[in-house]
Order: sequence, then structure tokens, then C-alpha cells
Amino acid sequence: MADGPATLACREAAPPACNRLRVLLPVPLPAALDYRTPEDEPPPAPGRFVRVNLGSRKLVGVVWDGESVGDDVAEDRLRPIAELLPTPKLPDELRRLIDRVASYTLAPPGMVLRMAMSIEAALIPPAPRRVWVITDAGRAALHEPPSKTMTPARRRVLELLHDRPAETVAETARQAGVGAAVVRGVIAAGFAAERIAAAVLPPVETPDWRAAGPALSPAQARAAKQLVEKVETGGFTVTVLDGVTGSGKTETYFAAIAAALARGQQVLVLLPEIALSAQWLERFRRRFGTAPVEWHSDIGQTQRRDAWRAAAAGRARVVVGARSALFLPLPDLGLIIVDEEHDPSFKQEDGVCYQARDMAVLRASLAQIPIVLVSATPSLETVVNISRGRYERVHLPERHARAALPTVAIIDMRREHLPAGKFLSPALVTALAETLADGEQTLLFLNRRGYAPLTLCRACGHRFQCPNCTAWLVEHRFTGRLQCHHCGYSTTLPKFCPECLAAGTLVPCGPGVERLGEEVAERFPQARVALMVSDLLPGPRAAAELADAMAAHRYDVLIGTQIVAKGHHFPMLTLVGVVDADLGLGGGDLRAAERTYQLLHQVGGRAGRAERPGRVLLQTYMPEQPVMRALAANDRDRFLEAEAKQRRDAHLPPFARMAALIVSAPDAEAADFAARALARAAPHLPGVTVLGPAPAPLAVLRGRHRRRLLAQAERGVNLQAVMREWLAKVRVAGSTRLQVDIDPYNFL
Ligand code: ADP
Ligand code: ZN
Repeated sequence: MADGPATLACREAAPPACNRLRVLLPVPLPAALDYRTPEDEPPPAPGRFVRVNLGSRKLVGVVWDGESVGDDVAEDRLRPIAELLPTPKLPDELRRLIDRVASYTLAPPGMVLRMAMSIEAALIPPAPRRVWVITDAGRAALHEPPSKTMTPARRRVLELLHDRPAETVAETARQAGVGAAVVRGVIAAGFAAERIAAAVLPPVETPDWRAAGPALSPAQARAAKQLVEKVETGGFTVTVLDGVTGSGKTETYFAAIAAALARGQQVLVLLPEIALSAQWLERFRRRFGTAPVEWHSDIGQTQRRDAWRAAAAGRARVVVGARSALFLPLPDLGLIIVDEEHDPSFKQEDGVCYQARDMAVLRASLAQIPIVLVSATPSLETVVNISRGRYERVHLPERHARAALPTVAIIDMRREHLPAGKFLSPALVTALAETLADGEQTLLFLNRRGYAPLTLCRACGHRFQCPNCTAWLVEHRFTGRLQCHHCGYSTTLPKFCPECLAAGTLVPCGPGVERLGEEVAERFPQARVALMVSDLLPGPRAAAELADAMAAHRYDVLIGTQIVAKGHHFPMLTLVGVVDADLGLGGGDLRAAERTYQLLHQVGGRAGRAERPGRVLLQTYMPEQPVMRALAANDRDRFLEAEAKQRRDAHLPPFARMAALIVSAPDAEAADFAARALARAAPHLPGVTVLGPAPAPLAVLRGRHRRRLLAQAERGVNLQAVMREWLAKVRVAGSTRLQVDIDPYNFL
């Protein structure tokens, strides 16, 4: 390696000292750029943060390694490093992760780096403070009797400074209850002087790993032992902690966290939608005596900065976050946990398209540490990896404390003839009444925000559509507006039809949670009903408060979208009604059945988590659908087998590979032009099929026209290489954009 081409080139360009340095910048360039360091200084090590000039901008980047790939700028024309920052260096393993994620997702490496240094304030060292302290002369003066130089006012100032330094003259004067002139006099007399104090970083408490958790059941103890062994042995392993909802998976992996902490290691826990995980945080705090360091989009800039610094310095021992936490520097990382590993929110769809669960496995392999994937409904990808022997499985077959799994019954909506505008079948209404009478709680699940998904004019048939997207506007009655759930467009609900000008003819079609709330209130006026839906909750705190109120039985019925599905533990909840079980099955998503199973199983899992048995009622127009039958029979494994067979036969992931290309442009012609150019350059290779271009189902989104192409490849094909070669042949210019999505989860 020492005689690689870059080294040779350098030697020729400027013998004998070559201080060419590669710096990766958080910008969408294809590779790191070359800079130089002063010849008389040792070059900074890879991973160090530096400030450099790029054009007229000054940017912070990271010293990289590897060979120069850019234009070979002559040594004497290289720009120097402007500043070497004292920030701890990016761990090598994280730099390798950035390289690998970039080459896997086909994203520019700088854009992946950007996620790893997403808070620039953290990279700048905290500014030292200037403080006023008492001098030796001042201390001596404190022992002298009162005099002209040692007035009572001056004494108060010195006593104050004797106890602790002060930030400013004004502050000192205020605290001592004297005028600023007195403080200046003390300084002039040489009794106090300015010093530079080291910056104080906010302390991070170490979780107490010695604190005993609950006594584990024999099955939990066995599972915990297996996980703890992985941590103690070290090295890269992937373990799937597979257990039904309420089986104590969290308690079990807490044992593995404690083991890693006992070894002085850091732990990274990835949770989907951390903002909704207040109950998880509370459990962690109860178990370990202190909260973990949080990392997600809902924390403020200062907290972000402190969290990044604490992670990078190894002071944050447990970091819990959403997918973006994957790119935090963690120099002592010893264990990664991915909870709800099947959750679709681990897939990032914009910017760099990556699957955080998969990249977490990659990170664990680069760091040579164990990773635990946790789920009651593991993804088919994970299940297949278990069957191939790549992942190990640890199983928790039963709910904790003999709580039984809920019974699941199907309501065949083809036989029900509900009045217009009503959505609760008689069977569900009866169950609701019984549950209320028993003093227990009900969850009604409908994955649709707002009042109605479509509004139309009874007179002329006009439907309200978003001006920017291929989507209907959704009525929100609490705000009195029509909203687009894709771009955020919103307008007031008009009094008359904009098409035929008739008044009073606009009717809502179909249910949203708000409309369901109305129906429940009409039927059960005495019931205390709450809606749990993101647009009615101003933030994670409000969501947590609502969950607490529900857990404390201050509500009888909770109506919610998928945010109710996760993590919540409501002891008195015994009935779950799924209002439209078929909702997720439409569309061309290859994982639609799998996801519906996972989501409905998870929602159903909220029922009967304590002593009282639970039941789940599924309203469906497709009772014969394998998903519904599997849910009713609680036969996950048979469902997964059938699903696997179907995907294998159809050459779909995880038995084949996929990459999506999404072209978008402000006008349809430009989008078509670029899509056709891509189609003409498409690869003709054995084992590779290219579909499209076709208008995306969301043909217009935020005013941009979208076309899709899809490459499908056999598992043995190096799809990234194929895509790279393909994309190199096509230039997408102007306002046309091209998004590459390897392993796509979204087909809209
Ligand atoms: P899962 O993560 O599998 O859904 P949890 O870890 O949330 O399960 O456990 C479900 C409930 O049972 C929680 O309230 C938890 O505190 C309780 N629980 C689980 N295991 C134990 C145990 N060994 N001792 C006491 N409580 C437990
Ligand atoms: Zn829109």
C-alpha cells in the first residue's frame, strides 16, 4: 500500500516532503479534496477536524485517508489547512462507516459525513471564560483590620470572591450589594484580578449499572444470559431478540446494557420515533438511576451540541436516539441495540437514503461489537438472515407474569350494512359498551389523521385536490381546514363548491380519527374520549402526558393513528378495535402485507398487557386475506413462510436486490426527458431487470413532476456497481433532480 499511485505522484511533485492531505467536507462532492499542511509540522492524523477554504467559503471538514481521486492539483497550488480544531478525532470505525454507507447508498461521502457532524457548534471548542478571582494580596487584606484601603464595602466584595470567582464587575457588585466603583477600586488595589477559567462542560451522569433490575423469569434470564455473554466475549455478532409484545424484551436487553456499562463501554440504542418513547426513557431512568443522553430532531441546539460532545468524548455512556444517532462518534462503543427493528421509520427517504437498522449492523461489524435487533414481529429480511445462519435468535415465547396474548376476532364488513357516515360495526359497538361497563379501557385504531380523507360536492362531484400534489385534501375539523398530508398545503374549508357554486353540498367521504371521535361521543356520551394523533399534540411532551393520563385511566377510549401502536403500556386497556384493517394493503408496496401484519399485531399487543385478558376486533372487507387470517390465528411464522415463498417466487427482496431512481422536475417535459435518457442508458446485463420509466403514483409532489425507474437484480449481482456505471452515463441538468434509493421501502 505504501507505494500506491498517490504516494508516487506526491513524491514526484514535491520531493522530499509531501504534506498533501485529504479532507472530506460535508458537501455533495464525489470525494475528499486535497489540501496541504505546513512542511515543518507533522500532518494531522486522519479523523481530526480542520477548517479549510472551499472557494470563498470556510468549512469544517475531517482529515481523511485513502488515495487522492480528484483532479491531481499540483502540490504548489494546493491550499493550506486554515485551522486544526482541538475537537476529539472522529473514530476510525466511524470514518469507515461513512465510506461504506456512501458506497452502499451511492450518496456523496460528504453528505454522509454531514450526518456525523450535524451540529457544527459541537466542533468548535467551548470558549474559555474570563473570571474575576481574589489575589494573594486580597486574601491577606481580608485579615487586616478596617482601614482606608479596607472598607466594609470592599471587604464584602473580597469575601464574595473568596468563596467563588465572579463573571463580571457588574455581577460582583450586584451580589456584594455595592456600587461598581467599589469593585473597580478592589481591582485597582490589586486585591482581585482577571483569570481565564477552563470551560466547563455540563456533567453527564453515568448510569448505575450495579442497580438491580427486576427478578427475571427463567426464560428472560436465559435470554439475558445469552446477550450478556455476547457483550462479555466481544466481537461482531448479530442477535435477534424475538419475543411477543409484553414478554419483557426491554428488561432483557437492559441486562446487556448493564454488562456493557460494567465494562466501561458506550451503548447506542436506536428507537423508532424517539419523541414518542417517553415511557421507555422513564423505564431507563428507573432502572439505571439517570436518563440516557438523547439524540433526535426534537432536542434543541444546545442539548444537541452537548450530546454530541459528550458522545465524542466518551462521557455519554448510553445514547438513545432515532436513526440519525447511528452517525454519532462513540469512541468506546461496545453494544448496539435496535428496538422495533422492523419499523419502517428506520428507513430514511430523503437526502441520503439509508436503512438505519442495516447500517447499524454494518457499524457493529466495523467496530467488531455485538448488536441486538429487537422485535415482536421481525422483518422478513431479518427472519431470512436467521434462517441463513447469519443472525442468531434468542426467543421469549410468553408474556411476562402469565398475561395472555389477546384473542383476535375478525369482523367481516361485507356483511355489515352501516348507515352512511358510520364506521363502527355492531359487534365493535357491543364490545365497546361491555368494556366501558366493566370499567376497562378501549383503543380504537385508525391510521388516518383528520376528519375525512376526501371531500366532494354532492351536486357536481367536484373533489378537492392539492394544487401541488397528486393527492386529495384531507378535512381537519378542529382547525376547519383542508390539508395536504404530503406537502403541508392548507386552505379553509369553503362554504360552497368552487366548481358549481352550490351551497351546502360538500360532504366528507370516509373516516378519519376526528370523525370517529364524533361517532364514539354520539354513541357513548358518558365515555371520556381522547384523540392521540400527531397534529393535535404540540410535541413529544404532550404525547407523553396524554399517554400518562391514559395509563392513569383518566380516559375510557383512546382513538389514535399509528403513534398509539408503539411502546405504550396501559394496564386497564382490554379492547383494541381496528376500524379499517385493510388500509395499508393497497398500493404497490411489496412489503404492504408484512407491514400491515406488523402494525396490527403491534396495535393489538396493547390489549391485555396486565392481569385482565385482552381482545382485538379487526374490521375488514378482506377476511380471507392471509394477513387477517394470520392475525386471527396468531400464526406469525406461517404467515412469514407464505410471505417468503411469494417474494422468492416473484424475485423480490430479500431474495433479490432493488434500487429505485426517482427523477423529478418542475415541469413534466423535463422529468420525461431525463427519465427517457436514463432508460436509454439502462444496463442490459444478465440477472438485472429495469422497469420504467413510469409516472410515480405520487406523480406530482410539492409541485415537482416525478418519474420512477426500478432496477431489480439477483442477489449475486453487485447492484451498486451496476448503478454507478449506469448513472455515470447520464447527466441530469438544471432543476431536474435524481434521487437514488438502494433497497427502497417506499414506492410512491
Ligand atoms: P416488551 O418489550 O417485550 O414488550 P416489556 O419489557 O415492555 O416487554 O415488559 C412488559 C411489561 O412487563 C412491562 O411493564 C415490564 O415492566 C413488565 N416486566 C417484564 N419483565 C418483568 C420482570 N422480570 N419483572 C417485573 N416486571 C416485568
Ligand atoms: Zn400537497
